[in-house]
Amino acid sequence: MLFRQQALETPHGDLQTPVLFPVSNIGKRSSDNTPEYTESVPDLSTAMVNARAIRNRDPQWERFEDGTPLREEMGVSEDTVVFADSGGFDFQDETVDTTPAKTLETQQQIDADIYGTVDVPLSRDNRQAENQRRISESIDLALEASRRHNGDEVLLGSVHGYDPETVRNSIQHLEREGDFDGYAIGSLVPIRTDYEKVTKIILAARRATDKHLHVYGLGGLTYQPLLLYLGVDSFDSSAFIRSAGNRNYLIPGFGGEPLKNVEELSHLPCACPVCSTRTFKAVRNDRDLLVQHNVWALALELRRFRYMAAADEDLEAYLDLRFAGNEVTKRAYRLAKQQVRRLT
Ligand SMILES: [Zn+2]
Repeated sequence: MLFRQQALETPHGDLQTPVLFPVSNIGKRSSDNTPEYTESVPDLSTAMVNARAIRNRDPQWERFEDGTPLREEMGVSEDTVVFADSGGFDFQDETVDTTPAKTLETQQQIDADIYGTVDVPLSRDNRQAENQRRISESIDLALEASRRHNGDEVLLGSVHGYDPETVRNSIQHLEREGDFDGYAIGSLVPIRTDYEKVTKIILAARRATDKHLHVYGLGGLTYQPLLLYLGVDSFDSSAFIRSAGNRNYLIPGFGGEPLKNVEELSHLPCACPVCSTRTFKAVRNDRDLLVQHNVWALALELRRFRYMAAADEDLEAYLDLRFAGNEVTKRAYRLAKQQVRRLT
């Protein structure tokens, strides 16, 4: 059992981990904007923002330069812990258009608590030599950020690799050559259905360091219990927004169900503040309500896991039950369990 609970010290307060960072599309005027959730879900005073996107949104960036606080712009409380990644995922098909210096300056300007280093994600189709080049470039960019960063903020070195050895070696190299508070594993979203590969990579990372470990992009309902089981300290997700766009209703332990598949129903099977007081039709017809429920679904999943741990329940037995209904995640969990047991 690798599940662990720690406190991460940040400029905006101590963060109890493991924790989810819901992705916040701050200021993006579009239908996939993030709803207000940090006040309504008390143990989710966290947000993940994209430093590059904020920097490139001119009117907004000018407001930040004029001194508008990020948390005010987002409409969240002062003690919200903000993780600013570099926006590396946007470089998948293009060249990197930022530098560690510029990214650090952005992260500082918006008063973020956790900084992700600039990284170049791997491409699944790319030749090995090209991916090797991207892995090395991400390492160099991380080391440069380490040399330039000297504040109280948490600096996480972004690491990529499609095999456990590469990830382990990268973390060990960064640990020797730089000064990081932890590491963040990227590039796993495109291979997320290959549970065995993803599990092995995360385990390799977990074994390579005792420091904070973040996994980019896999904090949705399916992966969350697996990441907790594997001892991951934090993760982020935009699944709650994307799912709602497809009218997908997330249910912990079950996954997502398009509400168009449901015909006659008076109320939905959830006790969150959105579902408990409204009719099925009211929730189905309001995208914002669906997004809010989906955030609650992710928060409740995490709460339930923490409860099982606090009640000293057998977490493996809990997860056996948890994954019983879904063949794909059941197989994934079985693989994870075999690998974890081999370690201990
Ligand atoms: Zn609900």
